[in-house]
Order: sequence, then structure tokens, then C-alpha cells
Amino acid sequence: MPNAELTHHQSMRYSRHIMLPAMDFEGQEKLLAAKILVVGMGGLGCACAPYLASGGVGQLTLADDDVIEFHNLQRQILFTEQDIGQAKAEVAARHLRRLNSEIRIDSLVQRLDAEALDTLVANHDLVVDCCDNLATRNLINQACHRAKTPLISGAAIRMEGQLAYFSMQPETPCYACFSQFFGEQDLSCMEAGVLAPVVGVIGSLQATMAMQVLAGIGSQLEGQVTLFDATRGDWQQFKLTCSPTCPVCAGAR
Ligand SMILES: [Zn+2]
Repeated sequence: MPNAELTHHQSMRYSRHIMLPAMDFEGQEKLLAAKILVVGMGGLGCACAPYLASGGVGQLTLADDDVIEFHNLQRQILFTEQDIGQAKAEVAARHLRRLNSEIRIDSLVQRLDAEALDTLVANHDLVVDCCDNLATRNLINQACHRAKTPLISGAAIRMEGQLAYFSMQPETPCYACFSQFFGEQDLSCMEAGVLAPVVGVIGSLQATMAMQVLAGIGSQLEGQVTLFDATRGDWQQFKLTCSPTCPVCAGAR
């Protein structure tokens, strides 16, 4: 992706990024030149997207077809009591434009099928999956795999969170290498509930990882899965390998 050179004004705005040796001017220019698709503006999206906007990712597309409901307010912290009944993607975009009016923020109030995802994913440099169901996660993974667009996946349920990165380059694992081993009941907070700040932990990690990937910070992210258990305050990390039985990527190898 082409890097736009920073203006003096932008250098001031993002100075606390730029003084990080790993980020520097070059990394910030990459963030400003990048286009990220955030799918899902629930708890994860509400935690992730504000950092992407305030941190100077140049273009954000926020996709969600839901409206804000009373029981969302417990954890979806971009929304207020006055926003109930309005489209999540539109309210979130409006809020983030106030955080940073110098980047482009688009909202998309639409259920994304495979065809819509293909077009969208191919138009972005990175996809952050903040959705709340396995069927959509699998569709996003398939679109990212087809377009070779990197994917950062997040999930939170009960007191547990999960984060994973897939570069979608040849001979690397995809989300389905992992998700083929669990069912929908493992990933839905509809019946199981979720502790509010756990979505904040995972959403913030998704934003952190997005900036690492875009700016080229850290090299050990490929196929990395991080699990957080708030009950025990415990973190676990492991590396995924390509599954020979993966329904998405095994045939392409
Ligand atoms: Zn796979």
C-alpha cells in the first residue's frame, strides 16, 4: 500500500506513536494509508474501533446490520441510552468521527453474505472480525482466504476471550483450521452471557494487533492464538498449524 507523507499537524497528533522506535514516522504513515474493515459493532467492535480511529488508521468501514438494544449497553460502550433503536454501525461511525475528523469512516448497515463479503474484503487491507456468531466468522474467513486479506479474529463469552491472527499467505493456517473443531455453542454470548470488560480486553488486543500487522511490528504473530480466562486471570498462547482436514484451505495446498 502507498504511504502518504505525514503533515506537521499529523506528526503532532500522532506524536506518542511516532516516538515509539518500532512505529516511527514510517509506521504511522502505513496506518494512515490503510483501510480496515471491522465486521460487527458489538462489544468487541466498540472496544477495537475507537483505538483504530484515534490512532490514525486512514480508512475504516464499520459493518453491522443490528440496532442498539437496551441489553447491549452493559458492554457496548460507544452507545448511550439515547441511541437505543438506532443502527449500531451509524451511531458508532458518528461517535468515531468526533474522535477523529481527519480520517474516513464509512458505515454499512447490511447483513453480509458471501458475495458482499468478497467485494468488501478485496477492497480492504485488513479485516477485524468482531462479530458474534460462528457462521459469519466462517464466511469472513472464507472471503479473507479467497482475497488473501489478513484477518484478526476475536471472540468473548462468559469470562473468556480469544484472539487469533491469520495472514492468509500460502502455507499458513486459516480460521477454519481452528474453528472446525468447535461448534456454535462455544462462541455465542446470547445464552451464556459475557463479562463486560472481557470484550474490552479482546477488542483492545485486536486493535493492538491490527497496528502491529499494518506497521510491521513483531514477527511472531502468524497463526498465533491467545486465550484469556478472567476467572483465573490466566493467559495462554499457542501456534496453529495448517489442518490437513481444513474445509477452507486444505484444498488450496
Ligand atoms: Zn484452514
